[in-house]
Amino acid sequence: MGAKLGQHFLRDPEALAAIAEACGAGPGDAALEIGPGRGALTGPLLAAGARVTAVETDEALAAALPGRVPDASRLTVVAEDFLRFDLGSLGPGPWRVAGNLPYAVAAPILQKLLLWDGWTSAALMFQKEVALRLVAAPGGPDYGLLTLSVLMRADAELVLELPPEAFVPRPRVDSAVVALSRRSAPRLAPEDEKVFWRLAKAAFGQRRKMAAGTISGALARPRAEVEAALAAAGVAKTARPEEIAFPAWAALARALR
Ligand code: SAM
Repeated sequence: MGAKLGQHFLRDPEALAAIAEACGAGPGDAALEIGPGRGALTGPLLAAGARVTAVETDEALAAALPGRVPDASRLTVVAEDFLRFDLGSLGPGPWRVAGNLPYAVAAPILQKLLLWDGWTSAALMFQKEVALRLVAAPGGPDYGLLTLSVLMRADAELVLELPPEAFVPRPRVDSAVVALSRRSAPRLAPEDEKVFWRLAKAAFGQRRKMAAGTISGALARPRAEVEAALAAAGVAKTARPEEIAFPAWAALARALR
């Protein structure tokens, strides 16, 4: 069962306490836990005084959860796949989100979270390789669409790295916790954001090529116009997509709208 549902349970008490703290849930706060499993993180969240709603897809684990935590009076368990879960059914927030995510679906879970406006802060565990992509700076292979999708709506920071030994059973990969704080509004207006994704998807789809060429093809605009927009954003006309920082992508989207 391990592979599909990603059931590697975190054992390290310090790491669990650090995740609970990094998600920002204090006394009386509403906390949303994704994939509580056997409750290793649910306990620290409840101990921090939060009211916890835990969404767990494995029915047996969901049913057993209240009996596994010291104080279940502040716990609500939802036995459902988080990707199908209606976030609108949650009560008023702001929600603090925490989870040791099942790695196979960590990226879609994060995208679902980013598009929801009910949360303010989160601490989520990812496969380290994915975590590095979420917080990547421009200029390297980790920087890409995943990085931009986070930057559009949140600020992210790597808070903790964990070796396989911190889990039972051991996963084959290293893990890392990323703390996120949601911006009150996306960095771009909706119309500009549409253009932003057309540009960025086209360019990162061919990340070894110069962005000017792929963007001009994708938008059917003269290359000289794209190069001028790049220059105005302070970017060399020969730049590859991974060399273009978020503010320059945003400026390009606005200029080429
Ligand atoms: N948080 C627990 C811990 O640290 O010990 C368990 C983490 S385990 C990596 C992932 C958990 O997420 C498992 O309990 C698994 O059943 C659950 N899960 C997997 N896919 C899910 C989904 N789509 N929605 C909700 N829970 C899911």
